[in-house]
Amino acid sequence: MSAKVWLVGAGPGDPELLTLKAVKALNQAEIVMIDDLVNPAVLEHCRNARIMSVGKRGGCRSTPQAFIHRLMLRYARQGKCVVRLKGGDPCIFGRGSEEADWLNEHGIEVEMVNGITAGLAGATNCGIPLTLRGVARGVTLVTAHTQDDSSLNWPALAQSGTTLVVYMGVAKLSEIRESLLAGGMRADMPVAMIENASLPQQRECRSSLAAMQQAAHDFQLKSPAILVIGEVAAQPNMQLAAISA
Ligand code: SAH
Repeated sequence: MSAKVWLVGAGPGDPELLTLKAVKALNQAEIVMIDDLVNPAVLEHCRNARIMSVGKRGGCRSTPQAFIHRLMLRYARQGKCVVRLKGGDPCIFGRGSEEADWLNEHGIEVEMVNGITAGLAGATNCGIPLTLRGVARGVTLVTAHTQDDSSLNWPALAQSGTTLVVYMGVAKLSEIRESLLAGGMRADMPVAMIENASLPQQRECRSSLAAMQQAAHDFQLKSPAILVIGEVAAQPNMQLAAISA
């Protein structure tokens, strides 16, 4: 196998959160295929690349996945250095492994490069520790959005004692709220909703499980946003503020 595709995480938005490895891949890239949640500012690291937008929103409306696969294959077989750039981490709700499997099956080597996923970046930027000694012994990343209508095990999530970080949840607030309440989570469980995490236009809205839908409505919460649900979402993290002051 000589042809190779780099599957690279572009991080949550702030270009300074790119990894050095991602910068190196962009330096060398000849073809860069980007998703729409990627901040175009990261493309300043490209030297001689042809940039192709293949996002589901944005300019190129709904590029079919099969078409993206074929494009990557075609350029890789031409011997080009192909970078597939995805928002956050390529393997967190990013279809990274699906694309890697498909490319491997077609004889193309894949190198994955981590990115900082939006849920972790958003929480940390807001001073929310997703794990906290004596408060949250773990963190669970979930999406409320499914292709096949299968359902999450909400009661298990509600009672897990871990912090929940929900991706793609803005249009599903009612379902998330009802399911967690029905699953036994406290109505006053703290919730933080973080929009445009790590970007200059980042906004955060703090609420409780019971009130989150109304709060999001009043706040006019928009995608992309992540929800942090758990005791830690009440954390202002005064220690961090004190350090930076
Ligand atoms: N692979 C990406 C996630 C892609 S799924 C990652 O690791 O971050 C798309 C969802 O990610 C959005 O609906 C939203 O929930 C979340 N998301 C991506 N970028 C975000 C950002 N800058 N701020 C808040 N949420 C974001």
